[in-house]
Amino acid sequence: MSLNDNSWFTEAYNDFTAFSVRYSRKLYDETSDFQRIEIFETDAMGRVLILNGCFMVTEKDTFIYHEMLVHPAMALLETPRRVVIIGGGDAGAVTELVKYSELESITLCEIDPRVVSSCREYFPALSSGLDDPRVQVLYEDGAAFISRFQEEFDLVLVDSTDPVGPGVALYEMSFYQNIKKSLKKNGAAVLQTESPLFMADVFENSVKNLRSVFGNAGATPYLAVIPSYPGGMWSFTMCSETVDPTKGAPRNISGNLRGDLRYYNGEVHRAAFALPEFVRRML
Ligand code: SAM
Repeated sequence: MSLNDNSWFTEAYNDFTAFSVRYSRKLYDETSDFQRIEIFETDAMGRVLILNGCFMVTEKDTFIYHEMLVHPAMALLETPRRVVIIGGGDAGAVTELVKYSELESITLCEIDPRVVSSCREYFPALSSGLDDPRVQVLYEDGAAFISRFQEEFDLVLVDSTDPVGPGVALYEMSFYQNIKKSLKKNGAAVLQTESPLFMADVFENSVKNLRSVFGNAGATPYLAVIPSYPGGMWSFTMCSETVDPTKGAPRNISGNLRGDLRYYNGEVHRAAFALPEFVRRML
């Protein structure tokens, strides 16, 4: 096996660390108004979506990310009806949400239509939730979108890229304050908050800023293992003024939904909120 031949895609995390996957075919390559979009066929991880040189989705492990973004909050909310996803153009989170028959509306607010169209074409199963009549797709900046609402949503999911380019707006205090304003009283928000190992500063600042908006007990990180993301250990932060994910026993995931899940369950839920010492000390 030679790493030198040109059939490897590499994401360089910094000048010293990288993650490479050998590909058999490049299926898509476009520079949209917002970013470079590449899709490869790979042996080890199936099809992969790359934005601006960073792994976003792999068929091998993306189910972990999307299940852990969506189901911990959905298992704790009493009667969720209206949900919005900011970012998330691959529609994996949408496809997890449409599994809940009680939801009335699911809005995907993605800034780049080319991400949605390329994922519809090359990740049909992952993006199949877009065919659900309850789903509405808007192509605009999520920070501007969310600022227009007051007590509107039961759940806001932020499935953003890193804080670069258009993603920067999704890490600003004003964005967090507008998320809180847009939530119904017993609502919740879940944001992907990067790697506590490889992006400690972004993780730490995000959680601290979310806690300054939602209160110390109102922003609770949890972890999952996502091999294609930097360092493998990934974080999410659940924010709510009423829902405490470390105390609330997740309501039983219904039989048919449970049969549809490959990662999330009640024990995984509880374990995810058990933070390692080094993470606790960061916060
Ligand atoms: N799961 C991935 C992760 O954790 O890095 C994120 C996947 S999803 C493809 C990220 C999406 O956020 C991209 O499609 C990107 O276009 C979108 N995005 C970035 N900034 C945005 C903004 N300000 N408003 C709406 N969508 C944005």
